[in-house]
Amino acid sequence: FQRLSDGLSKTRQVVRQSLDRVLGRTPDPAMLEELEAALLTADLGVRVVDRLMTHVREHARGADAANSEALQNVLSRTLYDVLAPVQGASLEQLIEKGPKPFVVLMVGVNGVGKTTTIAKIAQRLVQGGRRPLLVAGDTFRAAAIDQLQVWADRVGVDVIRHRHGADPAAVAFDGIVAAKARAADVVLIDTAGRLHTKSNLMEELRKILRVIGQALPGAPHEILLVLDATVGQNALAQARQFKEVVGVTGLVLTKLDGTARGGIVVAIADELKLPVRLIGVGEAVEDLQDFNQEAFIAALFG
Ligand code: GDP
Repeated sequence: FQRLSDGLSKTRQVVRQSLDRVLGRTPDPAMLEELEAALLTADLGVRVVDRLMTHVREHARGADAANSEALQNVLSRTLYDVLAPVQGASLEQLIEKGPKPFVVLMVGVNGVGKTTTIAKIAQRLVQGGRRPLLVAGDTFRAAAIDQLQVWADRVGVDVIRHRHGADPAAVAFDGIVAAKARAADVVLIDTAGRLHTKSNLMEELRKILRVIGQALPGAPHEILLVLDATVGQNALAQARQFKEVVGVTGLVLTKLDGTARGGIVVAIADELKLPVRLIGVGEAVEDLQDFNQEAFIAALFG
């Protein structure tokens, strides 16, 4: 929890500043407006903030108005209700219950932290006694293949790779064949994320999906969209696009430590009705955490 709490400290600061002015007294309209602005600044999104403020205003009219604990509870409970419908299993639970090999396709635009996240997941799996296999599906950038290899060497797992420029669907196919042959538990497939050729990228992803299904019917078992929390509402736009094209089944929000807008996790989950499987709150392996709504809310309002 400490790492999560540290990671969310910038966002918490924004919220706390105005919350502390309201707590313990009957809030006046100016204070409530300030609180509303702070919640928006934290990027919780207009819809979620409206819901929060409706409950907060109701509370402010009640007999309990000056009770700071009660107000804090109103905020926490409302956020909990927002997140409850999108609470899903963790990636590890999915793997535990799923078929073997369990195939995870990682998608997202360049720079969001896809490769790092794959490495962190692989490391966690290895620590948990599993045998992951990485697939260097971003054949567009030679550096991406090398970067994945460097991480794999560090973690001590194998990478299935083709040369730079090869067909990513062919690499994915080979990856799954290799996983079956080597009895790997989990296949983590990296993909390219260049957005300037958007329609090509989406076409390419569709082909990868098709070919994965041919290599192993029913696969991929999880399509994880990695989003960079520091880009705020832009992440939401990306998410809509990917969701439409590849049918994303879970989200990873990275770099929550680098932003005061960590509320974007809630806004995105609420808008897309997709479970947040993992969040990144720093660069270390331990900083990739399962998303736990209670812990997240506690760290947000702390
Ligand atoms: P890719 O292009 O999507 O594969 O992105 P990379 O995996 O290369 O990551 C881009 C940068 O983001 C790297 O410098 C990572 O260390 C950094 N990064 C990834 N996740 C996090 C995170 O949760 N917190 C922070 N602070 N940095 C992160």
